[in-house]
Amino acid sequence: MRKYTKDGKNQLELVICNQCGKKLLVEDHILKEGVCSIRVDWGYFSEKDGEIHRIDLCETCYDEWVQRFQVPVEREEETELLGV
Ligand SMILES: [Zn+2]
Repeated sequence: MRKYTKDGKNQLELVICNQCGKKLLVEDHILKEGVCSIRVDWGYFSEKDGEIHRIDLCETCYDEWVQRFQVPVEREEETELLGV
C-alpha cells in the first residue's frame, strides 16, 4: 500500500508491503527499493465488477510468492535501456 502527501503535491510518502507489513525505503519521495506493484481493474466477468485493487509486495515476499507458481515467471532482460 502507498501513502501520498496530502499537501496538494501528492508526493510519495510511504510504501508498505501488503503481505509482511515492511516499510520500503522512500527518500525524498522516491522509492529506493524494488517493489512488485499490482493494480487489478476487476471487470464485468469477475465477481468484483467495478472494483480496483492495488497491492505492493517487497522483493522478498514477491520471491516467496512466485516460487509457489506451477508455471515459472517469464523473464527477460530490459535491453531497451542498453541502447540509449
Ligand atoms: Zn513483504
